Formats: sequence, structure tokens, C-alpha cells
Amino acid sequence: MKVGFIGAGLMAQALCRGFIGSALVRPTQILASDVNRGKLRAMRELGVETTLSNTDVVRDNEIVILAVKPYIVGKVLREVAPMVHKNSLIVSVAAGITLASMENILPPKTRVVRVMPNTPAIVQSGASVYTLGTSANGEDSDLVTEMLNCVGLVEQMPEYLMDAVTGLSGNGPAYGYVIIQALADGGVKMGLNRDQSTRLAAQLLLGSAKMVLETKGHPEALKDQVCSPGGTSAHALHQMEKAGLRSALIDGVEAGTKRSKEIG
Ligand code: NAD
Repeated sequence: MKVGFIGAGLMAQALCRGFIGSALVRPTQILASDVNRGKLRAMRELGVETTLSNTDVVRDNEIVILAVKPYIVGKVLREVAPMVHKNSLIVSVAAGITLASMENILPPKTRVVRVMPNTPAIVQSGASVYTLGTSANGEDSDLVTEMLNCVGLVEQMPEYLMDAVTGLSGNGPAYGYVIIQALADGGVKMGLNRDQSTRLAAQLLLGSAKMVLETKGHPEALKDQVCSPGGTSAHALHQMEKAGLRSALIDGVEAGTKRSKEIG
């Protein structure tokens, strides 16, 4: 399998590291293009082949992952459309850019898949959701599932949910880091050193996430297990609720979703 990337920024590098780390492809089976030579240099450090030509990427690969900022997607697709061939599968990771808007630019019957990944793909703990374009088939679905499985959890959903997925898991690592940092600030305030505090905060989120995913326990029931009557957790949570913890997170996901809709 040969995989091309157009755009060699943060998300392309995250997916590349994940694909290579999970041995899905060898670095030499990847060709990446970008207008920024610094980004290409970073890709070469992973062992990936690079080019300044987006059209070379489409000509020489069957799977092409489009990883440029959303506002550049149309321009890049118009540039590469003449090189799209019968075996091309175009996989876009751009937030908010609809399948219809991409299919309108590409030659008729081009197989397109829209994906919303996230950056923990770097450590094979990503969360990706994909939706198939009108000409993409079951084999494309299997292939995209296999690729994204190598970098974490993957689910297929209808396109109308993609903005909500962006607002939740696409942006989500940013929320997670802020939560880890804030918890660590609390630990430091209470006398732990910064390193200890950050490690404990990160591990507790990792552990809680694994409990939800692996035991399939309801978060509310799992929370109740930790909160003994009159205990420290119940007191802590009461304080967090007074400060609007849940509302802040719900509002954040809603704002991210709305922004994704605006971009599209
Ligand atoms: P980025 O800015 O790090 O990377 C985009 C790259 O595209 C840059 O290296 C830029 O030089 C390159 N580029 C610009 N014009 C180009 C052109 N004409 N031809 C080829 N390359 C060109 O951005 P990113 O964070 O990697 O985001 C890329 C896409 O991934 C976006 O559409 C974004 O919505 C999506 N995405 C990002 C994240 C995330 O957490 N960063 C999560 C989910 C989805």
C-alpha cells in the first residue's frame, strides 16, 4: 500500500507517525507534499519521501490524504483534479469541509472519504470518525477502517454528525490538555511538585478513560464508586460543579460544533 499526503503539518505528521509506528506502512511507502520546506524536512526525518508537487502525490498514489487547512481544500482539489485516476481514493481530514463540496470539484465518481481524526493518533490512541462519499464503496470503508484502526479507535457515522464529532473528539485533545494542566495546578497548590502533579493528573484521565472503554461502565456509576458518603471526592465534585464544570464542557463542545458548521 502506498499512501500520499497533501499538507505535511501537524495532522499529517500525527497520522504518519501512527501509521509507521503501527507498521501499517513503511516510511518509504509514504509520499508527502507541502508548500513549506520546513514541514517536508520534518517528514523526511520520519523517513518519508517528500515533494513540493501536490499533483505528483495524486499521480503516484492510490490513497491520498488531504491534510491542508479547510480554507485551502478547494484550491488544492482544483489543482490536483486533472491527475485523479480511476484508482484514486481521496481521504480528507479537513474540519467542516463537506463531501458534496469536494465531489463537486473532483471528476465524476471520484471515491472520497471524509475523516475527523485527532492528534493522539501519534501515540496510536486517536479517535477517528469517517463518512463515505457517494462513490466510495465497502472496500474503501474496510481500508479506511484498517488504516485508522492502526492509530486508535475508529467509527463510521453519517455526515450530518461530523460537526459534532469535530466539536467533541477532533478538538478534544485541547480540552484534555487544559483539564490535565488545571488538575496539576491544583496538585501544585496543595503541595505536590509540578512533575508529580502532571503525571498523576494525566494518568488519572487515562485510567478513567480506560475504565469507561474497557469495563463499559456508565460514567455516572463509575463516579459513584469513587464518591463515598461524606468523602473527599464528593466534596471536591461539589466545588467543581459550583464552578460550572459540566456546563463549561458542554458549552465548549457546542461552540466547537458551531464553528465547524460555519467553516463548512
Ligand atoms: P497545519 O497548518 O499544521 O498543516 C497544514 C499544512 O498544509 C501546512 O504544513 C501548510 O504548509 C500546508 N499547505 C498550505 N497550503 C498548501 C498547499 N497549497 N499545498 C500543500 N500543502 C499546503 O494544520 P493541521 O493542524 O495539520 O490541520 C490540517 C487539517 O487537519 C485541517 O483541515 C484540520 O481541520 C484537520 N484536523 C486537524 C486536527 C488537529 O488537531 N490539528 C484535528 C482534526 C482535523
